[in-house]
Amino acid sequence: EAGEIGGVGRSGGVGEVAVVGAGLVGCLTACYLARRGYEVTLYERRPDPREAAPERGRSINLAISERGIDALRRIGLDETVLKAALPMPGRMMHAPDGTLGFQPYSAGGQRAINSISRSELNRTLLDAALGMPGVRALFEHRLTGLDVDSGRMDFDTPGGPVTHTAPVVLAADGAYSAVRGRLQFLPGFDFSQEYLDYGYKELTIPARDGGFALDPGALHIWPRGKAMMIALPNPDRSFTCTLFWPKSGPGSFAELDTVERFEEFFAANYADARALMPDLAGDYAHNPIGHLVTMRARPWHVRGTAGAVVGLLGDAAHAIVPFYGQGANCGFEDCVELDRCLEETGDDFPRALAMYGARRKEHADTIAELALENFVEMRDKVASRSFLLRKRVEHG
Ligand code: FAD
Repeated sequence: EAGEIGGVGRSGGVGEVAVVGAGLVGCLTACYLARRGYEVTLYERRPDPREAAPERGRSINLAISERGIDALRRIGLDETVLKAALPMPGRMMHAPDGTLGFQPYSAGGQRAINSISRSELNRTLLDAALGMPGVRALFEHRLTGLDVDSGRMDFDTPGGPVTHTAPVVLAADGAYSAVRGRLQFLPGFDFSQEYLDYGYKELTIPARDGGFALDPGALHIWPRGKAMMIALPNPDRSFTCTLFWPKSGPGSFAELDTVERFEEFFAANYADARALMPDLAGDYAHNPIGHLVTMRARPWHVRGTAGAVVGLLGDAAHAIVPFYGQGANCGFEDCVELDRCLEETGDDFPRALAMYGARRKEHADTIAELALENFVEMRDKVASRSFLLRKRVEHG
């Protein structure tokens, strides 16, 4: 069946693939496809990130773990990426009275997860993709429509609407995927989304006297029962903190809705961190409250009647809450599996996408559940003996 769709399989010449979204997963997908000889066009709604400042208060850094590093290693990007990362071999717990407790992630403390700037990682992956033969990127192209049957895509651009067609369309356009939005109208396509009654807000602990204000060799956690804060180090010696608070009820974003109330509550519950945050009021005012959502879709590919095939990768296929730090890692694993399936099917894209979805779906569902469960563990005293009992009670 290889090459059954004109221009898709490599057997009849170099195939052409449209990747919608030049985020983390879209760029890595482009790298893997280019290595196989495909011609790849990345369509990205934002301007070129290498020329624009990152959005304020939107997941400034990420933890990349062995799953993600393995995907980078297989394409020779691990060392470049890790050069800009800070290893975190354990977590540092901050009690309300300021007492610290370090818990290594591995027995000998040698294994670490890695804190990395999301925008830096995106730029590195984009550079890598564009450095490979056959890859181009069209920025300020926002997908607004897709004909699944023919692979015809409509984009809004600064110069007006444009149309492109590709025999393979891969969606790497994130949790609110416009491509997936088109598939949702098809009979037999399952989709669900589930919001947590929690939001998140990013705060900053700047460098102090030119150095880190906290131990940079740890992911810091302030567990506070129903809420928590985490902090990851940045190479400029600052920390990006993320507050995970209920949206409503006591101690929520809704209740603490003025800077005075927010600051007072924060100082009472996160005193050691408060002392390190000279611009808490500025962060409160400027950084948005983000939402936390789990999205599930099935299948992850659709064959059109006029020869096109559409596939989903990364958050477009499986958006998860961030408490296991695995969303991007999981998306990177998608790239490896798709590459493997292309290899096993002799680059028969429709079959490879079907195989990839069948193999990855179970893993994505599992990490989605684990990520939800880990929120309870992280915010409610990590690994205490009474934790399991409490957790059972909380889950009813
Ligand atoms: P995205 O990164 O969302 O990229 C999608 C791209 O598509 C963007 O560039 C976007 O501009 C573009 N796009 C969107 N719509 C269109 C359109 N219509 N047309 C064209 N382009 C479009 N993961 C980890 O592994 N470790 C962590 O520690 C971690 N921490 C996180 C913390 C928070 C607070 C959050 C919210 C997430 C965290 N994640 C983490 C998850 C991680 O950010 C995502 O899983 C990852 O970014 C998904 O990559 P993606 O490329 O699939 O989607």
